[in-house]
Amino acid sequence: MSIDRDRHDLHSYDQRVDATRVRIKDLDQLKVREDVFDDITLLALYKMVNRGWISAIGGSISTGKEANVFLADRDEGEVAIKIYLTRTANFQKMQNYIAGDRRFMNIGKSRKDIVFAWTRKEFSNLKRAMDASIPVPRPLVFDRNILVMEFLGRDGVAYPQLRVADPGDPAATYHELIGLVQKLWKDAKLVHGDLSEYNILYGEGTVYLIDMGQAVPPDHPHAFIFLRRDIEQLNRFFAPRCEVMPVIEAMRMVTGIEHLPEKAGTEM
Ligand code: ADP
Ligand code: MN
Repeated sequence: MSIDRDRHDLHSYDQRVDATRVRIKDLDQLKVREDVFDDITLLALYKMVNRGWISAIGGSISTGKEANVFLADRDEGEVAIKIYLTRTANFQKMQNYIAGDRRFMNIGKSRKDIVFAWTRKEFSNLKRAMDASIPVPRPLVFDRNILVMEFLGRDGVAYPQLRVADPGDPAATYHELIGLVQKLWKDAKLVHGDLSEYNILYGEGTVYLIDMGQAVPPDHPHAFIFLRRDIEQLNRFFAPRCEVMPVIEAMRMVTGIEHLPEKAGTEM
């Protein structure tokens, strides 16, 4: 797995991968090096190795407040591993999304229960989106707070987030994204819920939706609020770049509800 630094310099930014590979048998060293590897995470990683799901952990792709994303090796190639942080995850927010989602009614109340359910929820959301032919990272396997998915990138360098990418034709990209929001609603029966230029990757002519842990079905009590916010986020980013649709019109188009009231999704 070599990294062609020159060719990808333009898009690599902080996503350039640490060339040093750490083998799984040295996981204890990782534990010392990175505070993300608590005992539960290590155990889950060991299990993944034993099952043959990963063979080595590469560098960090992203370190966030709620999750860290790593590049890893599998026999067939590269994968991305998202590890939710059981200690720092925004637990209250997670509960708000999970409550009201009929798929996740009977889960425990502990911090761990919520984070594990959240991981399972992201896996299931990605799968639903993928089954509806929406460009997302293909989910491969999950365990506890760890999600293994297709790596979106080339030669170890992740595709850039939309905020730093140059998709060429902004109007076409905007309409493509509104179309994906519609497909997500109609075919996958989901609202993304945290759509922004940070959670859209662009690579080789395709826009990908990522980070779907919070996505909820249209019958969630806050589905219209999340849908409105997703469209407002797209409009905020694209308004300086191209003509955008009035939010309510986009919401009507996405849902197919022609008479959706003007203020749909404006209050809890
Ligand atoms: P967070 O909850 O930290 O926002 P994300 O799922 O958005 O988690 O991932 C954080 C960043 O990691 C993304 O913005 C993207 O740059 C990178 N990333 C996430 N998943 C993948 C993937 N499957 N392939 C490549 N890069 C990814
Ligand atoms: Mn994100």
